[in-house]
Amino acid sequence: MGSRLEQQTKVEPILPLWSAAYNHTHPKDVKKIHAEYIAAGADICTTNTYRTLPGIYAKAGRSHAEAYESFSHAIDAVYQAIKEADRKVYIAGSSATFEDCYKPGRTVSDQFLADQHGTHMQWLADAHVDCILLETVPCARELKIMTSAVRSVGKPFIVSVTVDENGNLRDGTPIAEAVRITDDSNRVAISINCSPILHADNAFNKLKSEYGGPIGVYPNGLKEDEILGIDDACWPFEKCHHGGHFVGAGLAWAQAGAQIVGGCCGVGPEDIAALRVALSKQFGIASIESAGRMIAPALAAHALHYDHTHHHVFGG
Ligand SMILES: [Zn+2]
Repeated sequence: MGSRLEQQTKVEPILPLWSAAYNHTHPKDVKKIHAEYIAAGADICTTNTYRTLPGIYAKAGRSHAEAYESFSHAIDAVYQAIKEADRKVYIAGSSATFEDCYKPGRTVSDQFLADQHGTHMQWLADAHVDCILLETVPCARELKIMTSAVRSVGKPFIVSVTVDENGNLRDGTPIAEAVRITDDSNRVAISINCSPILHADNAFNKLKSEYGGPIGVYPNGLKEDEILGIDDACWPFEKCHHGGHFVGAGLAWAQAGAQIVGGCCGVGPEDIAALRVALSKQFGIASIESAGRMIAPALAAHALHYDHTHHHVFGG
């Protein structure tokens, strides 16, 4: 969503708010982009609530009320988009780390982080999202705090981590440790996101050997030698994988047992549509739509699909 907002609005993001700033200035574009991903075949929309934590607004010199206003616009946008969908689309409430996802070092206290995530996850629960998506988490420390916060609101949740070239969390934590930290009966899947395809693939293979539940992978579009600093202003779509390479990776993960596949930053609706078509060809639309197959065609930054009854992630 964030990188697509940059691309579509042609407005440079304001840091540290990044994608959250567009909730104030371009709420119609947020809704339109959700609609694009639904049309492309996504099964779950992820709310544009990344960076809407009150403490991030405070860092930007803005108020708690403005953070909530941004959050509310994001929720309105996703509900408007799914209302117009021709099929059931689920909502994953995005809950991200307090500071830069690519810089796992932290300077704020555990108590501060717990308060921030506690507030934000309660907002998501009160907005009646289908599940909460802890996403782009780079480090064990904040993953523990976020897991504790999501447990306290009692909603189903998906954990998604961002990884380094070795397939560990960006702070070096082995993925097995992330599995252990987030263990909970409400955890419906573990995923890898916003990492280059090759790095995500390393993490996927490790995760598969450590975790028997539903797995997701939604890499960013960056080529492995184009590692982006978070201070870089915009996502370089022209330097990203598109088409065959991206689709091939998603298809391979689905064939290897991933139940959620998709794309994060730098991946557009055209890529998602191509992936959806490829998955349908490979597995058949009927089987994708069957919970029994548990194959998700959908893209996670913009689509996850999970079964309320069985707490399984599956395609549809
Ligand atoms: Zn991303």
